[in-house]
Amino acid sequence: MKIRFLCPVCECPTSVQSAGAAAVNWECAACDHRQVIQLPATAPTICAVCGNHELYKKKNFPHWLGLSILTFACIGFLTFMARYEWGWAWAVLLGSAAVDGILYLSVGDAIVCYRCGAQASGTTPGAEHHPFELTIHERYRQEKIRRDTV
Ligand SMILES: [Zn+2]
Ligand SMILES: [Zn+2]
Repeated sequence: MKIRFLCPVCECPTSVQSAGAAAVNWECAACDHRQVIQLPATAPTICAVCGNHELYKKKNFPHWLGLSILTFACIGFLTFMARYEWGWAWAVLLGSAAVDGILYLSVGDAIVCYRCGAQASGTTPGAEHHPFELTIHERYRQEKIRRDTV
């Protein structure tokens, strides 16, 4: 399992990784903040970084990859359309949609913390993990605003 997160003190992006359950003595490379990160053996039900109980699952699909495929498909489609090669134009469009779909299905899931955004990948979410819900996210966002303004 791999956990990607932001340092709770300086918000420097970082990650810890382990093959099984482990307690990693993590030290921030940027600000020397130290913390023990508990990596569970199975899908986490509490956040390894902040201990929060509300987590959501999502596809571990890199956003930039989806966008590049989309851009490529649009350029290809328009190029062939401009040359009146309808067959190729549609082939590019449908082909990239297929590639997009296959990639989407083949990438694993990630479990993300609503509070601190820590992402656990390399694990399979269980029935207790639900997809992202905007209302819960909004509640945490408001909470963070209140914390920051105190
Ligand atoms: Zn730090
Ligand atoms: Zn967290």
